[in-house]
Amino acid sequence: MFDHIAFPIPYQTLQRAGTVQLDLKRLDLIHPHISGNKFFKLKYNLLKAKQQGCNTLLTFGGAFSNHIAATAYAAHAFGFQSIGLIRGEELATQALNPTLQTAHDLGMHLHFVSRAEYRLRHETAYLQQLQQRYPQALIIPEGGTNALALQGTQEILTEDDRENYDVICCAVGTGGTIAGIIESSSEQQQVLGFSALKGDFLQQEIQQWTNKQNWSLTDAYCCGGYARTSPELLQFMQQFEQQYAIPLEQVYTAKMMMGLFDLIQQRYFPENTRILAIHTGGLQGKLKTY
Ligand SMILES: *Cc1c(COP(=O)(O)O)cnc(C)c1O
Repeated sequence: MFDHIAFPIPYQTLQRAGTVQLDLKRLDLIHPHISGNKFFKLKYNLLKAKQQGCNTLLTFGGAFSNHIAATAYAAHAFGFQSIGLIRGEELATQALNPTLQTAHDLGMHLHFVSRAEYRLRHETAYLQQLQQRYPQALIIPEGGTNALALQGTQEILTEDDRENYDVICCAVGTGGTIAGIIESSSEQQQVLGFSALKGDFLQQEIQQWTNKQNWSLTDAYCCGGYARTSPELLQFMQQFEQQYAIPLEQVYTAKMMMGLFDLIQQRYFPENTRILAIHTGGLQGKLKTY
C-alpha cells in the first residue's frame, strides 16, 4: 500500500567536526506531498480505514495546515474520499490559499466552520454527531495525533539511529511526532523538542503519550507563537538554505534549526555530542517570498 513512499530515508551531515556532530534525517524527501512526519502519523490510520471499510477520511485543520494537505493527498492516493473541517467560516467567501486549493483539487470537501464549532473538535458528543453524519468516515484529530499516529511515529527512528546518536531533535506542534520518537528512543538518548508555539500545555500533551523521562521541550525559539515569524528567523532560514541547499519552512523546521544552532553555539551540548535533527518536511506551507 505504501509503495509511493521513498525509502530508505536519506541523511545529510551538516557538521562533522567542531564541537558536535550534526546530521539531518530528511523525512521531507520521502514524498513530495505526504510530507515528512505526516506520513508516519497517517500510516496506521490509513490501514485502519482500509480494514474497517471506511471510504472517507475526515479531519480538522487551519487554513495553512500541513496535516490537511497530507490527508488530502493520502486520501487521493489511497482511494478514500476526504473531508476537511477548516477553522474560520469567513474563509468560505474568500479565494482559497495554495494549501486549501491543492486540497480541494485533490478532491477534499472543505467545510469552513466557525471558531466556536472548531473548538468542539475534541468533544466526544460533537465527534459522535460527526460520525453519525458521516458513518463511513474515519475521523482523524487535528494535526493527526492519535494512538495510531503514535504507532507510526515510533517508526521514524531506526535501530541505527538509536545506536549512532546521543541527542535527537525535532519540531513540535501537537506533540505526536516527538512522543513517538521518545517512545522509540534508547535510554541513553536525550530527545529535545523545539516547540512551534508558546506555552507549557504541550508538556502535558506529550506526557499523556509517554512515561519516559529522557526528553525536554523548549519554546524559546517559537518567535512569539504558532506561525509567527521574526526577521531573525527569516534571515536564519535564508542563510541556512544558502549554506546547505536544504529547504526549511518558517512554522516548524526553521525554528528548530535556529534553536539548535543557537544551543550549539552556546556550547549547550558536551564536546563530540552526536546529534540527529529530524527534518519533518512541511514544505508545502513554505513562505515563498522573504
Ligand atoms: C505537523 C508538523 C510538525 C509537528 O508535528 P506534531 O506531531 O504535531 O508535533 C513538525 N514539523 C512539521 C514540518 C509539521 O508539518
